[in-house]
Amino acid sequence: MSETGKPYVVTLGTAGGPRWWRYQGQSVRAGISTAVVVGDAVYLVDCGYGAGRQLIQAGFGFNDVAAIFLTHLHSDHIVDLTSIALFSTYEITDESRNPIALIGPGDRGALPHASPHAKSEPRPVSERAPTPGTVDTLTRLVEAHATDLNERIFDSLRPSPLDAIAAQDIVIPESVGFQPNENPSPDMAPFVVYEDARVKVSAILVEHPPMAPAFGYRFDTDNGSVVISGDTAYTSNMIALAENADLLLHEAIDLEWLMSKFADPSSPSARATRSHHERSHTSIADAISIARDAGVGQLALHHLVPGTSAPSLRKQLAAEPRVRAIVPDDLDVLPLCSR
Ligand SMILES: [Zn+2]
Ligand SMILES: [Zn+2]
Repeated sequence: MSETGKPYVVTLGTAGGPRWWRYQGQSVRAGISTAVVVGDAVYLVDCGYGAGRQLIQAGFGFNDVAAIFLTHLHSDHIVDLTSIALFSTYEITDESRNPIALIGPGDRGALPHASPHAKSEPRPVSERAPTPGTVDTLTRLVEAHATDLNERIFDSLRPSPLDAIAAQDIVIPESVGFQPNENPSPDMAPFVVYEDARVKVSAILVEHPPMAPAFGYRFDTDNGSVVISGDTAYTSNMIALAENADLLLHEAIDLEWLMSKFADPSSPSARATRSHHERSHTSIADAISIARDAGVGQLALHHLVPGTSAPSLRKQLAAEPRVRAIVPDDLDVLPLCSR
Protein backbone atom coordinates (compact mmCIF):
# COMPACT_ATOMS: atom_id res chain seq x y z
CA MET A 1 0.00 0.00 0.00
CA SER A 2 1.43 3.39 -0.93
CA GLU A 3 0.32 7.00 -1.37
CA THR A 4 0.87 6.71 -5.12
CA GLY A 5 -0.91 3.39 -5.56
CA LYS A 6 -4.30 3.24 -7.26
CA PRO A 7 -7.31 2.71 -5.00
CA TYR A 8 -8.75 -0.78 -4.69
CA VAL A 9 -11.22 -2.87 -2.74
CA VAL A 10 -10.52 -5.94 -0.62
CA THR A 11 -13.54 -8.17 -0.08
CA LEU A 12 -12.84 -9.02 3.56
CA GLY A 13 -16.00 -11.08 3.99
CA THR A 14 -18.67 -11.90 1.41
CA ALA A 15 -21.38 -13.89 3.23
CA GLY A 16 -24.78 -12.43 4.10
CA GLY A 17 -27.12 -13.32 6.92
CA PRO A 18 -26.82 -13.91 10.68
CA ARG A 19 -25.44 -17.40 10.18
CA TRP A 20 -22.33 -19.54 10.34
CA TRP A 21 -23.10 -21.12 7.02
CA ARG A 22 -22.76 -24.83 6.40
CA TYR A 23 -24.12 -26.25 3.20
CA GLN A 24 -23.26 -29.46 1.43
CA GLY A 25 -19.66 -29.41 2.67
CA GLN A 26 -18.82 -26.22 0.77
CA SER A 27 -16.26 -23.73 2.09
CA VAL A 28 -17.59 -21.02 4.39
CA ARG A 29 -17.20 -17.29 3.76
CA ALA A 30 -16.56 -14.66 6.44
CA GLY A 31 -19.38 -12.23 7.30
CA ILE A 32 -19.96 -9.20 5.12
CA SER A 33 -17.25 -6.55 5.31
CA THR A 34 -15.45 -4.57 2.61
CA ALA A 35 -12.25 -2.53 2.73
CA VAL A 36 -11.88 0.42 0.34
CA VAL A 37 -8.17 1.25 0.23
CA VAL A 38 -7.18 4.73 -0.92
CA GLY A 39 -3.55 5.77 -0.55
CA ASP A 40 -2.46 4.89 2.96
CA ALA A 41 -5.98 4.75 4.39
CA VAL A 42 -8.55 1.98 4.75
CA TYR A 43 -12.29 2.66 4.82
CA LEU A 44 -14.35 -0.24 6.13
CA VAL A 45 -17.92 -0.81 5.06
CA ASP A 46 -19.78 -3.04 7.54
CA CYS A 47 -18.28 -5.25 10.24
CA GLY A 48 -19.72 -8.71 9.73
CA TYR A 49 -18.47 -11.83 11.47
CA GLY A 50 -14.66 -11.94 11.35
CA ALA A 51 -14.17 -8.42 9.91
CA GLY A 52 -11.37 -7.45 12.29
CA ARG A 53 -9.49 -10.69 11.74
CA GLN A 54 -9.95 -10.48 7.96
CA LEU A 55 -8.58 -6.91 8.03
CA ILE A 56 -5.40 -8.26 9.64
CA GLN A 57 -5.31 -11.20 7.20
CA ALA A 58 -5.43 -8.65 4.36
CA GLY A 59 -2.26 -7.08 5.71
CA PHE A 60 -3.70 -4.02 7.43
CA GLY A 61 -3.92 -2.87 11.03
CA PHE A 62 -6.30 -0.65 12.97
CA ASN A 63 -3.87 2.26 12.61
CA ASP A 64 -4.69 2.22 8.87
CA VAL A 65 -8.47 2.57 9.33
CA ALA A 66 -9.67 6.12 8.76
CA ALA A 67 -13.39 5.45 8.94
CA ILE A 68 -16.02 2.73 9.26
CA PHE A 69 -19.38 2.98 7.48
CA LEU A 70 -22.37 0.89 8.54
CA THR A 71 -25.01 0.29 5.88
CA HIS A 72 -27.60 -0.68 8.50
CA LEU A 73 -27.75 -2.14 11.97
CA HIS A 74 -28.59 -5.80 11.25
CA SER A 75 -26.40 -8.12 13.30
CA ASP A 76 -24.68 -9.69 10.30
CA HIS A 77 -23.30 -6.21 9.46
CA ILE A 78 -22.21 -5.12 12.94
CA VAL A 79 -21.46 -8.23 14.96
CA ASP A 80 -17.70 -7.62 14.75
CA LEU A 81 -18.02 -3.95 15.72
CA THR A 82 -17.82 -5.26 19.28
CA SER A 83 -14.42 -6.90 18.84
CA ILE A 84 -13.15 -3.96 16.78
CA ALA A 85 -14.15 -1.52 19.54
CA LEU A 86 -12.81 -3.67 22.39
CA PHE A 87 -9.55 -4.68 20.68
CA SER A 88 -8.96 -1.07 19.55
CA THR A 89 -7.58 -0.46 23.05
CA TYR A 90 -4.47 -2.45 22.02
CA GLU A 91 -4.66 -2.60 18.21
CA ILE A 92 -4.44 1.20 17.82
CA THR A 93 -0.79 1.81 18.59
CA ASP A 94 -0.45 5.25 16.98
CA GLU A 95 -1.62 7.39 19.89
CA SER A 96 -1.30 10.60 17.90
CA ARG A 97 -3.85 9.58 15.27
CA ASN A 98 -7.36 10.99 14.97
CA PRO A 99 -10.21 8.81 16.23
CA ILE A 100 -11.67 6.34 13.73
CA ALA A 101 -14.88 7.86 12.35
CA LEU A 102 -17.87 5.50 12.66
CA ILE A 103 -20.73 6.61 10.43
CA GLY A 104 -24.09 4.88 10.20
CA PRO A 105 -27.85 5.11 10.54
CA GLY A 106 -29.48 7.17 13.25
CA ASP A 107 -32.24 6.04 15.61
CA ARG A 108 -35.06 4.37 13.67
CA GLY A 109 -37.52 6.51 15.60
CA ALA A 110 -40.30 3.90 15.77
CA LEU A 111 -40.56 0.14 16.20
CA PRO A 112 -41.59 -1.89 13.15
CA HIS A 113 -45.24 -2.92 13.03
CA ALA A 114 -45.95 -6.27 14.69
CA SER A 115 -46.56 -9.11 12.26
CA PRO A 116 -50.27 -9.77 11.59
CA HIS A 117 -49.53 -13.36 12.65
CA ALA A 118 -48.53 -12.28 16.20
CA LYS A 119 -50.71 -14.02 18.78
CA SER A 120 -50.05 -11.31 21.38
CA GLU A 121 -48.33 -7.91 21.38
CA PRO A 122 -44.55 -8.61 21.19
CA ARG A 123 -42.41 -7.14 23.99
CA PRO A 124 -39.40 -5.18 22.76
CA VAL A 125 -35.85 -5.41 24.07
CA SER A 126 -34.81 -2.19 25.83
CA GLU A 127 -38.33 -0.84 26.12
CA ARG A 128 -37.33 2.77 26.94
CA ALA A 129 -35.11 3.18 23.85
CA PRO A 130 -35.78 0.22 21.55
CA THR A 131 -34.35 1.48 18.24
CA PRO A 132 -30.87 2.93 18.93
CA GLY A 133 -28.83 4.41 16.10
CA THR A 134 -25.08 4.10 15.51
CA VAL A 135 -23.94 6.40 18.35
CA ASP A 136 -26.09 4.70 20.98
CA THR A 137 -25.32 1.21 19.66
CA LEU A 138 -21.57 1.80 20.04
CA THR A 139 -22.03 3.36 23.50
CA ARG A 140 -24.16 0.49 24.73
CA LEU A 141 -21.91 -2.26 23.45
CA VAL A 142 -18.88 -0.54 25.02
CA GLU A 143 -20.79 -0.07 28.30
CA ALA A 144 -21.68 -3.78 28.32
CA HIS A 145 -17.92 -4.43 28.65
CA ALA A 146 -17.30 -1.86 31.38
CA THR A 147 -15.61 -4.31 33.77
CA ASP A 148 -12.98 -5.25 31.19
CA LEU A 149 -12.52 -1.77 29.77
CA ASN A 150 -12.23 0.01 33.11
CA GLU A 151 -9.48 -2.40 34.11
CA ARG A 152 -7.59 -1.55 30.89
CA ILE A 153 -8.22 2.16 31.33
CA PHE A 154 -7.25 2.31 35.03
CA ASP A 155 -4.57 -0.37 35.32
CA SER A 156 -2.99 -0.42 31.84
CA LEU A 157 -3.69 3.23 30.97
CA ARG A 158 -5.20 2.25 27.62
CA PRO A 159 -7.59 4.57 25.76
CA SER A 160 -11.35 4.07 25.96
CA PRO A 161 -12.97 2.86 22.72
CA LEU A 162 -15.36 5.79 23.12
CA ASP A 163 -12.35 8.11 22.63
CA ALA A 164 -10.70 5.97 19.92
CA ILE A 165 -13.88 5.76 17.82
CA ALA A 166 -15.93 8.85 17.00
CA ALA A 167 -19.46 7.72 16.13
CA GLN A 168 -21.89 9.83 14.13
CA ASP A 169 -25.51 9.22 13.15
CA ILE A 170 -26.31 10.09 9.53
CA VAL A 171 -28.86 12.90 9.32
CA ILE A 172 -31.23 12.25 6.42
CA PRO A 173 -32.27 15.44 4.59
CA GLU A 174 -35.77 16.27 5.81
CA SER A 175 -36.98 17.13 2.32
CA VAL A 176 -36.69 13.46 1.34
CA GLY A 177 -39.71 12.50 3.46
CA PHE A 178 -38.16 9.39 5.06
CA GLN A 179 -40.47 7.44 7.39
CA PRO A 180 -39.15 4.13 8.75
CA ASN A 181 -42.39 2.21 8.29
CA GLU A 182 -44.35 4.11 5.63
CA ASN A 183 -41.62 5.54 3.37
CA PRO A 184 -38.23 3.89 4.02
CA SER A 185 -36.60 4.52 0.61
CA PRO A 186 -38.14 7.52 -1.17
CA ASP A 187 -36.65 8.49 -4.56
CA MET A 188 -33.77 10.83 -3.80
CA ALA A 189 -30.33 12.03 -4.83
CA PRO A 190 -27.18 10.79 -3.05
CA PHE A 191 -25.94 13.12 -0.30
CA VAL A 192 -22.42 13.51 1.13
CA VAL A 193 -21.83 11.95 4.56
CA TYR A 194 -18.01 12.08 4.77
CA GLU A 195 -15.16 13.81 3.01
CA ASP A 196 -11.39 13.97 3.51
CA ALA A 197 -8.37 14.58 1.27
CA ARG A 198 -8.68 11.10 -0.31
CA VAL A 199 -12.39 10.35 -0.67
CA LYS A 200 -15.87 11.79 -0.84
CA VAL A 201 -18.47 9.37 0.48
CA SER A 202 -22.15 9.73 -0.43
CA ALA A 203 -25.14 7.79 0.85
CA ILE A 204 -28.61 6.98 -0.40
CA LEU A 205 -31.56 5.23 1.24
CA VAL A 206 -32.18 1.69 0.04
CA GLU A 207 -35.11 -0.73 0.41
CA HIS A 208 -34.59 -3.35 3.12
CA PRO A 209 -37.85 -3.61 5.07
CA PRO A 210 -38.51 -3.72 7.91
CA MET A 211 -34.96 -2.44 8.61
CA ALA A 212 -34.75 1.33 8.21
CA PRO A 213 -32.88 3.47 7.63
CA ALA A 214 -30.65 1.34 5.38
CA PHE A 215 -28.00 2.94 3.17
CA GLY A 216 -25.86 2.27 0.13
CA TYR A 217 -22.54 4.14 -0.11
CA ARG A 218 -20.51 5.58 -2.95
CA PHE A 219 -16.78 6.37 -2.67
CA ASP A 220 -15.41 8.87 -5.18
CA THR A 221 -11.63 9.22 -5.40
CA ASP A 222 -9.28 10.99 -7.82
CA ASN A 223 -8.67 7.58 -9.40
CA GLY A 224 -12.03 5.88 -9.61
CA SER A 225 -15.27 5.21 -7.81
CA VAL A 226 -16.87 2.28 -6.02
CA VAL A 227 -20.43 1.76 -4.85
CA ILE A 228 -21.55 -0.68 -2.15
CA SER A 229 -25.25 -1.48 -2.02
CA GLY A 230 -25.75 -2.62 1.55
CA ASP A 231 -28.78 -4.90 1.89
CA THR A 232 -31.56 -3.95 -0.45
CA ALA A 233 -34.31 -5.11 -2.72
CA TYR A 234 -34.29 -3.69 -6.23
CA THR A 235 -34.52 0.10 -5.98
CA SER A 236 -34.00 2.87 -8.51
CA ASN A 237 -32.01 4.69 -5.80
CA MET A 238 -29.21 2.19 -6.43
CA ILE A 239 -29.15 3.14 -10.11
CA ALA A 240 -28.85 6.81 -9.09
CA LEU A 241 -26.06 6.03 -6.60
CA ALA A 242 -24.09 3.79 -8.99
CA GLU A 243 -24.32 6.00 -12.09
CA ASN A 244 -21.12 5.49 -14.14
CA ALA A 245 -19.24 4.01 -11.15
CA ASP A 246 -16.14 1.97 -11.95
CA LEU A 247 -17.10 -0.84 -9.58
CA LEU A 248 -20.43 -1.84 -8.02
CA LEU A 249 -20.52 -4.33 -5.17
CA HIS A 250 -24.15 -5.37 -5.01
CA GLU A 251 -25.77 -7.84 -2.67
CA ALA A 252 -27.42 -10.88 -4.23
CA ILE A 253 -29.53 -13.77 -3.17
CA ASP A 254 -29.54 -17.03 -5.06
CA LEU A 255 -33.28 -17.44 -5.70
CA GLU A 256 -32.73 -20.94 -7.14
CA TRP A 257 -31.24 -21.94 -3.76
CA LEU A 258 -34.00 -20.14 -1.83
CA MET A 259 -36.78 -21.89 -3.75
CA SER A 260 -35.17 -25.30 -3.26
CA LYS A 261 -34.42 -24.73 0.43
CA PHE A 262 -37.83 -23.30 1.35
CA ALA A 263 -39.95 -25.12 -1.19
CA ASP A 264 -42.85 -26.34 0.95
CA PRO A 265 -45.89 -24.20 -0.03
CA SER A 266 -47.86 -25.48 2.98
CA SER A 267 -45.28 -24.35 5.57
CA PRO A 268 -46.00 -20.85 6.99
CA SER A 269 -42.38 -20.41 8.10
CA ALA A 270 -41.01 -21.43 4.66
CA ARG A 271 -43.44 -18.99 3.03
CA ALA A 272 -42.45 -16.20 5.47
CA THR A 273 -38.73 -16.79 4.87
CA ARG A 274 -39.18 -16.74 1.08
CA SER A 275 -41.28 -13.58 1.28
CA HIS A 276 -38.73 -11.79 3.53
CA HIS A 277 -35.88 -12.51 1.13
CA GLU A 278 -37.89 -11.57 -1.93
CA ARG A 279 -38.94 -8.16 -0.58
CA SER A 280 -35.67 -7.26 1.19
CA HIS A 281 -32.93 -8.61 -1.10
CA THR A 282 -31.97 -8.56 -4.78
CA SER A 283 -31.99 -11.39 -7.30
CA ILE A 284 -29.01 -11.90 -9.58
CA ALA A 285 -31.09 -10.78 -12.58
CA ASP A 286 -32.02 -7.52 -10.81
CA ALA A 287 -28.42 -6.85 -9.70
CA ILE A 288 -27.37 -7.25 -13.34
CA SER A 289 -30.09 -4.89 -14.55
CA ILE A 290 -29.08 -2.23 -11.97
CA ALA A 291 -25.45 -2.50 -13.11
CA ARG A 292 -26.50 -2.21 -16.76
CA ASP A 293 -28.86 0.74 -16.20
CA ALA A 294 -26.25 2.58 -14.10
CA GLY A 295 -23.51 1.98 -16.69
CA VAL A 296 -21.00 0.63 -14.17
CA GLY A 297 -17.61 -0.70 -15.27
CA GLN A 298 -17.82 -3.92 -13.30
CA LEU A 299 -20.35 -5.68 -11.06
CA ALA A 300 -19.22 -7.83 -8.13
CA LEU A 301 -21.84 -9.82 -6.22
CA HIS A 302 -21.38 -10.16 -2.47
CA HIS A 303 -23.41 -10.54 0.77
CA LEU A 304 -24.07 -13.95 -0.69
CA VAL A 305 -26.97 -16.05 0.55
CA PRO A 306 -26.13 -18.87 1.01
CA GLY A 307 -22.71 -17.74 2.24
CA THR A 308 -20.73 -20.63 0.82
CA SER A 309 -18.96 -21.22 -2.47
CA ALA A 310 -20.88 -19.96 -5.44
CA PRO A 311 -20.98 -22.27 -8.48
CA SER A 312 -24.69 -21.64 -8.96
CA LEU A 313 -24.24 -17.84 -8.93
CA ARG A 314 -21.35 -18.00 -11.36
CA LYS A 315 -23.44 -20.17 -13.69
CA GLN A 316 -26.30 -17.65 -13.58
CA LEU A 317 -23.89 -14.76 -14.29
CA ALA A 318 -22.37 -16.59 -17.23
CA ALA A 319 -25.81 -16.59 -18.84
CA GLU A 320 -25.73 -12.75 -18.97
CA PRO A 321 -22.63 -11.80 -20.96
CA ARG A 322 -23.62 -8.13 -21.51
CA VAL A 323 -22.38 -7.03 -18.07
CA ARG A 324 -18.86 -7.61 -16.70
CA ALA A 325 -19.70 -9.42 -13.49
CA ILE A 326 -17.83 -11.55 -10.98
CA VAL A 327 -18.44 -13.36 -7.70
CA PRO A 328 -15.38 -12.55 -5.56
CA ASP A 329 -14.06 -14.80 -2.82
CA ASP A 330 -13.06 -13.48 0.60
CA LEU A 331 -9.85 -11.39 0.51
CA ASP A 332 -9.99 -10.81 -3.25
CA VAL A 333 -8.49 -7.53 -4.48
CA LEU A 334 -10.62 -5.55 -6.96
CA PRO A 335 -9.13 -2.45 -8.61
CA LEU A 336 -11.37 0.61 -9.00
CA CYS A 337 -9.97 1.51 -12.41
CA SER A 338 -10.94 -1.59 -14.30
CA ARG A 339 -12.41 -0.17 -17.53
ZN1 LIG B 1 -27.28 -8.63 5.75
ZN1 LIG C 1 -29.86 -6.67 6.51
